[in-house]
Amino acid sequence: MTATTTTSAGEVLLAADGLTKSYAGADGELPVLAGVDLAVRTGEIVALLGRSGSGKSTLLRCLAGLIPPTTGEVRYKGRPLAGSNPGTAMVFQTFALLPWLTVQQNVELGLEARGVAPRRRTEAALQAIDLVGLDGFESAYPKELSGGMRQRVGFARALVVEPDVLLMDEPFSALDVLTAENLRGELVELWESGQFPTRAIVLVTHSIEEAVLLADRILVLGSRPGTIRAEYPVELPRPRQRDSKDFGALVDAVYAMMTGRDRDTAPAATPARRTPGNTPLPPASVDGLSGLAEILAEHPGPVDLGALADELGLEVKNLLPLVDALDLLGYATADRRGVALTDPGVEFAAADVQTSKHLFAATMDRIPLVHTILTSLQRTDDGTLRAGFFRDLLAHDYTAEQITGQLDIATDWGRYAELYSYDAIAEEYRLDPAQRTAARAVG
Ligand code: ADP
Ligand code: MG
Repeated sequence: MTATTTTSAGEVLLAADGLTKSYAGADGELPVLAGVDLAVRTGEIVALLGRSGSGKSTLLRCLAGLIPPTTGEVRYKGRPLAGSNPGTAMVFQTFALLPWLTVQQNVELGLEARGVAPRRRTEAALQAIDLVGLDGFESAYPKELSGGMRQRVGFARALVVEPDVLLMDEPFSALDVLTAENLRGELVELWESGQFPTRAIVLVTHSIEEAVLLADRILVLGSRPGTIRAEYPVELPRPRQRDSKDFGALVDAVYAMMTGRDRDTAPAATPARRTPGNTPLPPASVDGLSGLAEILAEHPGPVDLGALADELGLEVKNLLPLVDALDLLGYATADRRGVALTDPGVEFAAADVQTSKHLFAATMDRIPLVHTILTSLQRTDDGTLRAGFFRDLLAHDYTAEQITGQLDIATDWGRYAELYSYDAIAEEYRLDPAQRTAARAVG
């Protein structure tokens, strides 16, 4: 184990030089990364911050050597990579555990791949399991664990190989707010304690607050194609206080930079780049999000969520999914000053039921899973598809439990918009007849 120093950064462990990456698409090459230079040094936590689709996961995979860059190179300890990076291990958003293996077997897997002898494997796995607070769950199966505990297994599986650089791809975003906050806190404590068996961390996130909370340095990745747009050192002492003035000022600065630039260079690019896999629907019913929109409509200007939660006798965490939903629909924007309805949000909040259904239907283009269900149904002869089809489409990005949640929300939203309905007995989605005509007219 290597003790970490979190003072001044040291030796360059991992570097990217002029890295570009394009994917082959139906209409030619899709450039995703265009010339990324970065260096990760001993003792630092670097956050890669960017919007969905900006190429964060692609960059991380290149750093891990899981995919080759199109041009440029990745170097680990000065040596260009040939294949997977021996100095890194990855934690994924969706945990990526093997359901038929126990916690301990899942953790041992990485060592097995690296040819470690069985006795040593067991020893190291038990130690890593202990480190992440899963002592006693060695023989449990993933399905017996909560999301937070599954992600602990994800951490243990990466840490067990004692990678020089731990790579994390949105490791907290599939967790509920409290669990995520708890795990973040533990991560920082472990890192600060010097017991952490890695020397640097690269954290991919789309959350500015998360980046400011955890990182020593924030690199902002712009979209289409991705380059590093800005770099912010974070010199706040740990543990960091979200409600401190300096914390807020930095969040605001990053926020202003990201929204300003993205608007200039990539107008309306984001909706087209969203997919059901990278845009999880927040657990918000139409009734819930409409209710919040109506409440917000009563307050001109941004509403402080904490104050609103107090007023309603709720906790902020109860409101967050509704706020996320309004944000995704383009009905509200949220920043540190609070939540405010946009013009379409005001219109939605004021509309009668029929009008609100129309308005809501018109925004469904922005909602990837609803859009996928609708267009898939329009492409069938009889306008029906089994739920299993969509479950399979989502299986790559979500756990079974999450898929059920995602489909429940998409069903609620699509039904309200009168795009399709869901027959729970037949487990079948059915296109609304009006949508079928629409498809014919177009196609
Ligand atoms: P982020 O992690 O920031 O959301 P990604 O790196 O996953 O972004 O994706 C960036 C872009 O590259 C997206 O437009 C995505 O659709 C595209 N992309 C990602 N992986 C592939 C792939 N294997 N083949 C084709 N396109 C891809
Ligand atoms: Mg990603």
